Amino acid sequence: MNKSPNVSSRNGWKPDIIVCHITDGAYAGSITWLCNPESHISAHYVVGRNGQMSQLVDLQQAAWCNGTQTGKSGSAQYTGNATAALVKQRKVNANLYTISIECEGFDSTHGILTDVQFSTLVSLIKSIRQQVKSIFGIDIPLDRDHIIGHCEITPREKPNCPGHDFPYDRLIQTVKGLPALTTIDQANENTVRGWALNISGLREVDVYYDGAHGVTSTRSFTARTDVNKLLNSHGGYPDGAHCGYSITIPTDKIPIGKHTLGVAAIGKDGSSKWAYKDITISAPVLPPIAWIDSPADGTKVSTDFTVSGWGVAGEGVERVDIYADGKRGLASIKVLSDRPDVDKTINAHGWYKDALHSGYAVTVPVSALSKGKHIINVAVITKNNTATWAAKSITVI
Ligand SMILES: [Zn+2]
Repeated sequence: MNKSPNVSSRNGWKPDIIVCHITDGAYAGSITWLCNPESHISAHYVVGRNGQMSQLVDLQQAAWCNGTQTGKSGSAQYTGNATAALVKQRKVNANLYTISIECEGFDSTHGILTDVQFSTLVSLIKSIRQQVKSIFGIDIPLDRDHIIGHCEITPREKPNCPGHDFPYDRLIQTVKGLPALTTIDQANENTVRGWALNISGLREVDVYYDGAHGVTSTRSFTARTDVNKLLNSHGGYPDGAHCGYSITIPTDKIPIGKHTLGVAAIGKDGSSKWAYKDITISAPVLPPIAWIDSPADGTKVSTDFTVSGWGVAGEGVERVDIYADGKRGLASIKVLSDRPDVDKTINAHGWYKDALHSGYAVTVPVSALSKGKHIINVAVITKNNTATWAAKSITVI
């Protein structure tokens, strides 16, 4: 502790109010001045804009910080113009029952703290409350009657200490520990949308399915004035106004079927809050395919010949019908044969049902056709009873 000589007894008072000040001067110089016996001022703590912190006065003693008394008489009557309710009521030197924190800052900063200074102040207030509880048995309430500014004690003399933009409410809410919140407004197989709040701010939103399978992530957030208005009137969530997310789901990374989508909002402090929603990823509707391997187009035939190929459909294939010249039925195949090559080539995602068993092969007697040109038509009939056609021309010689 950097002891300041500018201290006196609390005269039996127990501290239950924390007073925030601004130094209007740099950190080191302010500490020097607050420890100088000539200055007749002091504070319990000084918190710098880089997050550094010094204690100058023991909590058991009164610091001289509030302008309600200077010198060493200790219990001077206070009859000032305080706007703080408890200070008004008590009518004694406010130094007796307060703990003063000087925050490094200047007239031009209007009480706005740096992020790291704010974090240090939050930790310091938590620590002060614990110490006051153990030394004096008092719980300092986290409200605006007990976390106040110097300007609320001596509004005429110090109207700008700690400055009109000092974040009292955000400070109180942060010390209280606002919960991290994550909400999914809407989730389907294309998009997941919602919002998240974290007292440390938002770093990113990560999307998972079925627990640990990460699929995508975003660091761009959208305006959510509705959420900000409803949940952030105290300003405790720094990104409250921009807390929305809308993420396109890379469907090909998630297997077809029902899954639990997990959204993890990660705060700037690394903390995470999850929300979940069930979604169903359906197979894309792919067109049925009818394919003829043989005969090749323009083949000349003089003996019995084979018509072979394969057919697939998203919903599965009912049968394959073979015609000559679009009308004359030559064969109908209901039991299809193994085609692992087809399955491997076109069915990596499993979007065609039973592509593994998609083959057909039938021998057509040449006597079934007259001499000359003919079209061999293959109709793949799907389980939904639609037909998809393929054709080859041959010449019977
Ligand atoms: Zn002050």
